[in-house]
Amino acid sequence: MMETKSIKKSLFLIFFLIIFFSSCSSPSQSGSKEAPPAEPESQSQLMLGTSCRITLYDGITQSAFDKAFAAIATVEEHMSVNIPESEVSQINTKAGTGQAHSVSQQTFEVVQEALHIAALSDGAFDPTIGPLVSLWGIGSDDPKIPTEQQIAETLPLIDYQQVEIQESQTSISLPRSQMKLDLGGIAKGYAADEVRTKLAEEGVTSALINLGGNVLTMGTKPDGSLWKIGIQDPASERGDHVIILELEDMSVVTSGPYERYFTGPDGKRYHHILDPEDGYPVRRDITSATIVTASSFLADALSTAIYVMGMESGARLVETLEGVEALFIDADSTIYVTSGLEDQTIPNRLSNDSYSLTPVPEKAN
Ligand code: FAD
Ligand code: MG
Repeated sequence: MMETKSIKKSLFLIFFLIIFFSSCSSPSQSGSKEAPPAEPESQSQLMLGTSCRITLYDGITQSAFDKAFAAIATVEEHMSVNIPESEVSQINTKAGTGQAHSVSQQTFEVVQEALHIAALSDGAFDPTIGPLVSLWGIGSDDPKIPTEQQIAETLPLIDYQQVEIQESQTSISLPRSQMKLDLGGIAKGYAADEVRTKLAEEGVTSALINLGGNVLTMGTKPDGSLWKIGIQDPASERGDHVIILELEDMSVVTSGPYERYFTGPDGKRYHHILDPEDGYPVRRDITSATIVTASSFLADALSTAIYVMGMESGARLVETLEGVEALFIDADSTIYVTSGLEDQTIPNRLSNDSYSLTPVPEKAN
């Protein structure tokens, strides 16, 4: 067990630094003071309903950027619920008709993985969350608080176990009318991994991929130093980080209630991560949940899953997964971590003291 932990630690190469200058770094990535061999170049495009930014530190060509953004565009065309012709929209349109929709290999792969994470998280992550997402409309121009009756009528439609997949035909069907797939909690991570594959094919070995806060680092910086990835302080302005992770070849993905929400007429905030059990935005003491692992695809799905599950149950799931770590922040800005990170300390540059991360407490029975 101890051996596994130390392997995990060396895998991650993660060290923590308390952030004390809010101006220290731009959101989710910070430039190094050391001059890299070549000037890095960034390009951004609005895709997947967010800002997608790719920064190349080597192999910088327009072709690499073009292929990377084209890969994101393909994911969006296949999986967006906002595009009526997308494969996911067509699966949804055919719900309850008895017709399966034949999809691309990539949509099939994302749905399969979404169902896998749904099973692992005992339905906390549920890709059939679509009808509830539509009902609340959080992130749309017309968000609203549904009535209890509307929620009660919608809940039976949320059930990942009813999704039917036919591997030989890569086809997917939903048995009940009004059921809807929504891959918003997983597809950005898949897109980030796709970008990494395209960039590698173009000879890039050092890059930062940031799809609306879904961050994936490729290699190290050209001088061999680690990337510094800030974790947003949920209680503060965008770009204020509670800690910075230093790492290489890793994805860092955070889920939380603080970015996509609306304030209801009752003055309360309603956010976009919904509890498939009761149909309401998840109510938790934690203000964000972060996954650190090599695959952005896995990190995206799991960060949403563990936010829904809550800290103790989420951490317990993460502890069963090799090469995956989690970090939770609560309302007091206490940072809780899973076992692969718990012995790490943060040098606090303000006081010269060490700031220890708190292990996730065991759930009381
Ligand atoms: P995450 O925690 O990763 O995911 C939260 C999202 O997952 C929710 O918004 C919801 O969609 C879904 N979800 C909620 N509860 C659960 C649950 N219990 N289990 C599983 N999933 C859940 N945004 C726009 O405004 N306009 C667009 O046109 C648009 N197009 C998009 C197209 C694609 C292919 C994708 C992947 C995203 C798109 N988005 C768009 C963004 C999307 O609506 C969400 O904002 C985003 O995916 C949420 O990501 P996150 O990292 O903030 O949160
Ligand atoms: Mg997610």
